[in-house]
Amino acid sequence: MPIGTASILDGSRIASQIMQEVAEKVRRLALAGHRPGLAVILSGADPASQVYVRSKLKACDELGIHSEKFTPPEEATTEDLLQLVETLNVRDDIDAILVQLPLPVHVDAKKVLLAVAPEKDVDGFHPVNIGNLVTQRPGLAPCTPAGIIELLRRNQIEIAGQHAVVVGRSDIVGRPMAILLLNHHATVTVCHSQTRDLAAITRLADILVVAIGRPAAITQDFVKRGATVIDVGINRITDRNLFEEIFAGDAAREKTFREKGSVLVGDVHPRVAEIAGAITPVPGGVGLLTVAMLMANTVAATEMRLEKQGGETSRMEKTGSQTKPRLGRT
Ligand code: NDP
Repeated sequence: MPIGTASILDGSRIASQIMQEVAEKVRRLALAGHRPGLAVILSGADPASQVYVRSKLKACDELGIHSEKFTPPEEATTEDLLQLVETLNVRDDIDAILVQLPLPVHVDAKKVLLAVAPEKDVDGFHPVNIGNLVTQRPGLAPCTPAGIIELLRRNQIEIAGQHAVVVGRSDIVGRPMAILLLNHHATVTVCHSQTRDLAAITRLADILVVAIGRPAAITQDFVKRGATVIDVGINRITDRNLFEEIFAGDAAREKTFREKGSVLVGDVHPRVAEIAGAITPVPGGVGLLTVAMLMANTVAATEMRLEKQGGETSRMEKTGSQTKPRLGRT
């Protein structure tokens, strides 16, 4: 791995590999008469969420996965969303349910996520799936951290025995990331907003994963020369001074900023690329993998349900039961 200029870990290349593999599985399921189905619940008017949902539905279309979008109004209550989840939980043509976060503030998001049937919990946020992850049982793992493991693995970056430092401990990224790295035999340290002398700890990392939502906060002083740096952050900056501070001299970004009035930046400062061994770009890194892993999880949810139904059918056949569950859909 070159030191001085980091190799770029291209999320789009790995994402398209994963998409091709998922497409093949969708084709095989279709031959057996099954079509994976994903339901997306988007409540409220968060503009970033609308963009994310659009890209998720587009990916479903590309792969031939059935998708349905539900858009309860901003004022929908926790109860309304629970009812919607319940109807989706029992629908046989829906294998996977995604509740796009954040939900409006008056909604109890934890309660809604808990209502999703664990076998349809495509984001892997349900305590049952988190429990499966912690105890290394099969299940659905959260998409962003699972995508990061794929990115490392498919770039032949060793995880076992490496010191991985995860900055951020959210339920969506930091915590499951730490568990997955541990399951892949890294020595893991988790940091957060109360960590003392963060830089002293992050400088020990062979693999540094940053998910804090602070534009360009991780500068060169935080990174060991040659480390692999995974930047999960997606921050849109519109402030000219901040733009200058981060991107001074970057002609391409300057052009984007002038045309659009904003640019995206990760949680890692772009100049970290000068000392890291390998680094994910923003955009073009982790974000694309999240969508690909969502597709992979949708198909995995379909396969697991079919397998379970198949198991139940053969048990019933053995015991002579008259009532057989539906194996698929027509
Ligand atoms: P959250 O806001 O839920 O969590 C942020 C975490 O970072 C918290 O654990 C917080 O600590 C910690 N933190 C905040 N400031 C600091 C600091 N100065 N030093 C150390 N730790 C700090 O964010 P998410 O995990 O949901 O998202 C993080 C980033 O990743 C965001 O930019 C988001 O947009 C992006 N994201 C990208 C995805 C992708 O597909 N690429 C998917 C999901 C998120 P504490 O717990 O103590 O408050």
